[in-house]
Amino acid sequence: MMTKRSVRRTAGVCLALGTALAHAHGTAHQHGVAKLDVAVESNRVTFELDTPLDNLIGIERAPRNDAERKRADAAVATLRDAAKLFGFDPAAQCRQQDVELTAPVLGLGAAAAPSEQGEHADLEGRFVFACADTARASQVDIGLFKAFPKLQQLDVQVAGPHGQSRQTLKRPANKLTLAK
Ligand SMILES: [Zn+2]
Repeated sequence: MMTKRSVRRTAGVCLALGTALAHAHGTAHQHGVAKLDVAVESNRVTFELDTPLDNLIGIERAPRNDAERKRADAAVATLRDAAKLFGFDPAAQCRQQDVELTAPVLGLGAAAAPSEQGEHADLEGRFVFACADTARASQVDIGLFKAFPKLQQLDVQVAGPHGQSRQTLKRPANKLTLAK
């Protein structure tokens, strides 16, 4: 039985998995679910992804063997090739400008703070696209479900010139609405 109750925010503590409690909490770590914040400006779209590492590579620690290393390298390469993960309407003329990945257990970005070390780990990604006119991109095709089979749900928040919207994409849905 799943109940929704408020959860006291405690830094560095991973909440129990698979519960509605974790989902109710925006920053919680819940396997299968990732958070995607989208900022739409007239000539730029920025995606910020925050996901349990498990969704991407099935483990949440440094790779220990060749198979795990290969899986981690492949996931990182997939994320760096962001133009395939975020498909814009060609009319908007968007092109990938910058990708920053942070995942301490994979040696990406800053080292983990002591409070963040534990049995769970996340990856944060920032993907920036420069566009001629984002008003011409009403939707984005999200390729994350196709690329990462363990990912089941994306909790999306879009902030743009017309305000904010929240959307939940569940596999296999892949159309993200940018403009309303
Ligand atoms: Zn985890």
